[in-house]
Amino acid sequence: MYNRYTQRTNAIARKKRRRKRMIRRVVTTLTGLLLIAFIAAAVVWLITAAVNKNRKDEPDNPPIAEQSGETAQAEEQQPVTEEVTQTDPEAPPASPPEEMQTVTVTEADIGKGILILVNRQHPYSFTSDYELIDLFTFKSSSYKFRDTGMMFAPFAGEKLNEMLVDFHNRTGNHIINIISAYRDIDTQQRIYDSKLKYYNGDVETTEKWVAVPGSSEHHTGLAVDLGLYDDNGESYDYDGKGEYAWINENCWKYGFIVRYDSAKTDLTGIAYEPWHFRYLGLPHAEIIASTTYCYEEYIDYLKSFPQSGQHLFFTSYTGERYEIFYVPSEGKETKIELPKDCEYFISGNNVDGFIVTVTLNGDS
Ligand SMILES: [Zn+2]
Repeated sequence: MYNRYTQRTNAIARKKRRRKRMIRRVVTTLTGLLLIAFIAAAVVWLITAAVNKNRKDEPDNPPIAEQSGETAQAEEQQPVTEEVTQTDPEAPPASPPEEMQTVTVTEADIGKGILILVNRQHPYSFTSDYELIDLFTFKSSSYKFRDTGMMFAPFAGEKLNEMLVDFHNRTGNHIINIISAYRDIDTQQRIYDSKLKYYNGDVETTEKWVAVPGSSEHHTGLAVDLGLYDDNGESYDYDGKGEYAWINENCWKYGFIVRYDSAKTDLTGIAYEPWHFRYLGLPHAEIIASTTYCYEEYIDYLKSFPQSGQHLFFTSYTGERYEIFYVPSEGKETKIELPKDCEYFISGNNVDGFIVTVTLNGDS
């Protein structure tokens, strides 16, 4: 018993010693490993610090290399933002200062051009400088005409035709009916009188739907109303919904805007008319479509880009770059400064001045 007990005690003691040795060995190994890791980390840190120091000392090193990933990304996105907002104070100067030309416009020109605002407060001057053509010259099976003899500005008629043909090609729908284009003042008066009769002499309601003669956009030959006329000879209102929504959402690509928005009736003075399209051309229709402005607001907005200040720069979906600015009328004659040999157009705003649109070259 005694011997066996002693043997067991010795065995336990040996086991304890072995365990102690093992623990010591593990501790030694771990300490060694930690030491190696520490030395390695120190070496890596020293090398990195040395490399960074060298980089900072290089004069040609682009500043972006020293920025954090987030800042570098923001830096890369900056040109895009500049294109979209067009109001970046660091935008390129208006034009090369060396070669300039002066164009003189007169007071009467305020009421001329495709960008004129026409409403109750700013009636049409009936002095347009473009001839009108019969829309029927675009006769196509893609859509219909209420009548022949509906007159329109030719450049706008071309884009209207293009839009309606594109719509037909997308949908197969061929029942869009052009129901109204240019109106002279007598026609507008007839429409006004008949609507007034319809509303039992209620002037306020009548004028929500029909512009007072002289203040209708239809006088310009740049506004068109769409309707629907099916194969059974039934007429319907065009509401711009369903498949027709494509037209109201994409008309800006063809230079048109839905002029009388439901949210802007206080400013336009006219009820929501999803069927009434006004031609403004590019880039203006596109800029307006990218904002929530109605045309009254847009005319005001452009005044924040005067000839002598920051101009509005805009890149169209076509890739074309534009520079736009406003020149207030100086009375009888107004001088407009433009880069020489540039492509441009000047339009009156029919309020108090001129809108200048310059097409920039690709390298500008
Ligand atoms: Zn209309």
